[in-house]
Amino acid sequence: MFNKILIANRGEIALRVIRACREMGIGSVAVHSTADSDAMHVRMADESVCIGPPSSTQSYLSIPSIIAACEITGAEAIHPGYGFLSENAAFVQIIQDHDLTFIGPTADHIRVMGDKITAKDTMKKLGVPCVPGSEGGVDTLEDAKRIGAEMGYPVIIKATAGGGGKGMKVAGSAAEMERAFMTARAEGKSNFGNDEVYIEKYLTTPRHIEIQVFGDGKGNAVHLGERDCSLQRRHQKVFEEAPGPTITQEERDRIGKICADACANINYIGAGTIEFLYENGEFYFIEMNTRLQVEHPVTEGIFGVDLVREQIRVAAGLPMSFTQDDLKINGHAIEVRINAERLPNFSPCPGRITQYHAPGGLGVRMDSALYDGYSIPPYYDSLIGKLIVHGRDRPEALARLRRALGELIVDGVDTTIPLFDALLQEPDIHSGNYNIHWLEHWLETHL
Ligand code: ADP
Repeated sequence: MFNKILIANRGEIALRVIRACREMGIGSVAVHSTADSDAMHVRMADESVCIGPPSSTQSYLSIPSIIAACEITGAEAIHPGYGFLSENAAFVQIIQDHDLTFIGPTADHIRVMGDKITAKDTMKKLGVPCVPGSEGGVDTLEDAKRIGAEMGYPVIIKATAGGGGKGMKVAGSAAEMERAFMTARAEGKSNFGNDEVYIEKYLTTPRHIEIQVFGDGKGNAVHLGERDCSLQRRHQKVFEEAPGPTITQEERDRIGKICADACANINYIGAGTIEFLYENGEFYFIEMNTRLQVEHPVTEGIFGVDLVREQIRVAAGLPMSFTQDDLKINGHAIEVRINAERLPNFSPCPGRITQYHAPGGLGVRMDSALYDGYSIPPYYDSLIGKLIVHGRDRPEALARLRRALGELIVDGVDTTIPLFDALLQEPDIHSGNYNIHWLEHWLETHL
């Protein structure tokens, strides 16, 4: 096992990894920008190294600084968290070249899955059902219009390098194609340096269902069921739960086995998420994320496993500590994302936290790097905490969520807490009757 792990991240996810290290008796090294000198992850880690100025390109994304921090501290492995360098194949290669270990999949797996066209191609060959769409990239507007006409509108044009909801545009008709095609390309170019796009049938009423997978890199892989992340704003998740309120055990077993087999087949190592749209009883693959996801705690909640500990174990060459048969669902878990944002526009709201109080009690988990007097810097994303609740069933989890939200105090900045208070008043949230568009419609009429 490693003696020391460097966490190439900040915020709640850095804390999450430090906690796993501490329970495993492994030393932790935090890295931070000058804007994060007072951040909780710096305080909580065993050691810390300042790696640059506030701008993430010069700090959390600076590969030479992170490698240097490993060499200075003697850290043997790097956990990337999510975001930043977590899906950067070049980073993984450089880590290996320095005889360090990346806690995550191989550079090749990251490369294949990071390009949505090769990812879809690979999954199709592995027997995973995909959204109908273009065969590979679409280079010209003429081709795009021909494919749109053949497939039937609406269609969605997606940047192959896209992520975080960026580089995706819907064309409802041939008349909208030019604008959607050009915008998706431009967003791909400006956000990801790649203007290649492809086209998919746009599903009008799907749910977002994703399967948590885990492999040991030696041909063994399991699935840990699904998460339903249908409540989204601008293609970004705000409320996630496991198990999915509409997924049956038969469906879970079927799609879960397809995903686990696909991972076993490619010798996938570590945690991964295979994302699907789910409509009329069918699953359609959209993308794979080769990292720990923000919403992983709901899966941990219902299976009682520590996914970060598991990631560290397999990275060190140890076997997974569970088999598929060991994995039994217990109850229901829900996560809400607490962002420092001002409603109704969700504009970022950095600033000083005058008072912070985390909820507690049975079945409540608060993953956050906040503390009294902390100043949220303006340079990074607005996620400041995740409230995760677990109950014996979905109604109990919802009641617990309402109770825990009532105890949570975050003063000094605006947050998304009132959004969740309001959502919990909605009958559709209680019945689970929503698809990926529900929240956008609701926001238009309620905020
Ligand atoms: P990103 O990598 O930016 O997260 P995804 O491919 O994972 O992009 O898609 C994010 C979200 O966009 C999905 O959860 C869904 O809401 C929407 N979406 C993506 N593809 C389609 C599609 N073919 N039809 C309808 N909605 C889609």
